[in-house]
Amino acid sequence: MKTYFVEFSYLLASILFVLGLRGMSNPETARRGMHLAEFGMAAAVVGTLLQKEIVSYEWIIAGLLLGSTIGLAMGVWVPMTAMPQRTALSHAFGALAASLVGVSEYYLHGANLGEFRICAVGFEVLLGSLTTTGSLIAFSKLQGLVPGTPLIYKGQNIFNLSLLAVTIACFLLFLFNPGTALLFYLMLGLAFIFGVLLVMPIGAADMPVVISLLNSYAGLASAATGFAISNNVLIIAGTLDGGSGFILSLVMCRAMNRSITNVLFGAFGSVQESRTESTGGTMREVHSEDVAVQLAYARQVVFVPGYGMATAQAQHALRELATALEDRGVTVKYAIHPVAGRMPGHMNVLLAEANVPYSQLYELDQINPEFPSTDVAVVVGANDVVNPDARDNPNSPIAGMPIVEVDKARSVVVLKRGRGKGFSGLENPLFYKQNCEMLYGDAKDSIVQLAGAVRNA
Ligand code: NAP
Repeated sequence: MKTYFVEFSYLLASILFVLGLRGMSNPETARRGMHLAEFGMAAAVVGTLLQKEIVSYEWIIAGLLLGSTIGLAMGVWVPMTAMPQRTALSHAFGALAASLVGVSEYYLHGANLGEFRICAVGFEVLLGSLTTTGSLIAFSKLQGLVPGTPLIYKGQNIFNLSLLAVTIACFLLFLFNPGTALLFYLMLGLAFIFGVLLVMPIGAADMPVVISLLNSYAGLASAATGFAISNNVLIIAGTLDGGSGFILSLVMCRAMNRSITNVLFGAFGSVQESRTESTGGTMREVHSEDVAVQLAYARQVVFVPGYGMATAQAQHALRELATALEDRGVTVKYAIHPVAGRMPGHMNVLLAEANVPYSQLYELDQINPEFPSTDVAVVVGANDVVNPDARDNPNSPIAGMPIVEVDKARSVVVLKRGRGKGFSGLENPLFYKQNCEMLYGDAKDSIVQLAGAVRNA
């Protein structure tokens, strides 16, 4: 009876994971998808706690209490803008757990595991170990604990690929000599080192793609764990995680017009400083009263949110400003760039939090043709995603990256604090264009002032 209940809870969990993922593919159903996945995880945990192999619950309860306390604290206190590094830390722990399960399986059973499980354990430990250290480096780069710039030296890619080849050779030799523990632990150590060396040469700007790729590795390591300990829910959840992480990496790369190999081996962010030329010219500063008049008498205004809106937490104020404009009959739209901010869907999540109707959010191919007939485009703390060099300058490091073409609007107002560059570290010629004006200050403060001034206009 107990076995049936465990199997049923795993089946339920797997179904809920699939439905949860499906829900998360659309902003309107994402919240429900998240809840479904949470229920799925709860079902999987309950099923696992009823496993007959469990001999004592003390350590499990201690781990549950400790993990839940840390998870709760992270959920409450980690700010939205630090979500990428928080995710990297979670992957590091997930991958470490997968690795440790593999090590304990090998420690307990050694060569008696049999061919298939030895292969699963080796694969799990290999991927889990490199994902652990890789994710920790990604976390450290994004948190500023190690420099975010790519750390490169001559012959690096050859050295890294050779190290990977030696690690894989250890894995293969281990498969043929499962009794030789030295090979197993050598592979483990080399995989840890490879994880560090894999991520160190990658710039912080590419970390979200790397994190999503490491997420996919952690998923595959969990699936291998499932094979090693004959656990169906781990196999299904791990495969879903691995597949979705990989697809997300590809989607992000496409949005930046880059390839996965370029992200992993291109050392993006190291050479670009030298290729960045000063654009010259002057930026024209404008005051909020003047912008408010422009907005109040416009027919259509398009807001373009970016990372600065997230750091300023300006989404609620932006909604207020939009409402003030709509009350005056102005048509308001939001242009959403797929990599605006620091994680996929960053802007969608923030705007949904401020109850911005989903029907007002427009993707690039929908909004770009509308700019020539847009009176004012308001750039709210965005920079790279509105950089016309990506379209006009084939020598730019971000050449080919799709952009929000605000420069084609009749007038552009950029809300930012000063002359700070975007995440890519590049100059932005938009700020020097004839139709562009700069409203300096924290995005939230500027928008609050604008909303007040629009209401009084
Ligand atoms: P961005 O290029 O990072 O620029 C953000 C701008 O916001 C900065 O120029 C900064 O200028 C301004 N800012 C910062 N804090 C502010 C505040 N409190 N108030 C007002 N302005 C503020 O942002 P983005 O245009 O959203 O582009 C995202 C970048 O991240 C892209 O390069 C993208 O490729 C990269 N990326 C994103 C993802 C993803 O999944 N979203 C993945 C990989 C890479 P000041 O300092 O002058 O204020």
